[in-house]
Amino acid sequence: MPDPIPTTLRPSTVAVTAGRPPHEPDQPLNVPITMASTYVAGGDLEYGRYGNPTWTAFEDVLGGLEGGRCLAFSSGMAAVTTVLDLVGHGAKVVLPQHAYQGSIMAVADLEARGRLTGQLVDITDTAAVVAACDDAALVWIESPTNPALEVADIETIAAAAHAAGASVVVDNTFATPLLQQPLALGADIVVHSATKYLAGHSDALLGALVVTDDELHDVLQGRRSLAGSTPGTLEAWLAVRGMRTLHLRVERAQANAQALLPRLEAHPAVGEVRYPGFGGIVAIVLAEGELAADLLVRKTTLWVHATSLGGVESTFERRRRWKTESPSIPVGLVRMSVGIEDVEDLWADLESALDTLTTG
Ligand code: PLP
Repeated sequence: MPDPIPTTLRPSTVAVTAGRPPHEPDQPLNVPITMASTYVAGGDLEYGRYGNPTWTAFEDVLGGLEGGRCLAFSSGMAAVTTVLDLVGHGAKVVLPQHAYQGSIMAVADLEARGRLTGQLVDITDTAAVVAACDDAALVWIESPTNPALEVADIETIAAAAHAAGASVVVDNTFATPLLQQPLALGADIVVHSATKYLAGHSDALLGALVVTDDELHDVLQGRRSLAGSTPGTLEAWLAVRGMRTLHLRVERAQANAQALLPRLEAHPAVGEVRYPGFGGIVAIVLAEGELAADLLVRKTTLWVHATSLGGVESTFERRRRWKTESPSIPVGLVRMSVGIEDVEDLWADLESALDTLTTG
């Protein structure tokens, strides 16, 4: 067992120190990759689907940062669907109309099969969300939303949901626990696509749930074992390694994003800039719409046209290229995941691509 980490440590110290082996001679400084489908009988682990020391290290780091107990999953969607699976037959789930399309599709799929009812809400309209909590079993918050970058009043919504007897989930993928701690704001469950900022290097698929309630933790752990939605050992290890620099990456990505904002706002090819006020994700709506957005993503050399986000590399994507994206997202919206490169190089690359849109 690793040494327990004192809870008073600040987030960057937790990111570097949590989940490490004890400081004893010949122990590795960081957790190794344990490749094992089974363990010698009689201990806590027993079988590869029930537990793995490399998952535990990841869970200790993220649990420490979020202030709860963490469970790692094979992907963000495995974590999302595990939570939705807890909802009782015929019950109502409230979720943002601009939540990640996969989460909306997962609810719609369950609704189509008669398992539950989904109600899409404008997550920025707190009064409307509070009203929708009334007969809900689960209130799903994503803040900021992907890709609209809307911010929810988590504390007010969580209080109203609890008063109505509903549970509250917050997808904290965009904010990371460094910029927002939903459990402290009243959430029951935090969801992560650890594929994004947590792992941070665009090389691993991983998900996570974090809770404070021990009983709920055990229920979710049981579901993970039954469904086999368990992470790969290598992925968990990559995420632990990634999280050692989470604070530096998030700080730099945010600083870069904030340096780009006024420049984007001033460029004539850009009709609108959306930014939630924190983090490294920015969305721009091209003044000339879909065609201009499709041209932009082909004209850069540093910025890569790719889905996903939160890696060290700057990537961007016209979200409506996906048929499943919400029709209320503008066709010319490009979601930008600002990386940790030099911001002047990032701007020079973007500016020259944007200039071609206005000069023909
Ligand atoms: N939640 C959010 C906000 C996401 O952006 C994503 C993926 O893009 C997911 C959940 C799903 O995560 P994964 O792709 O790791 O399954």
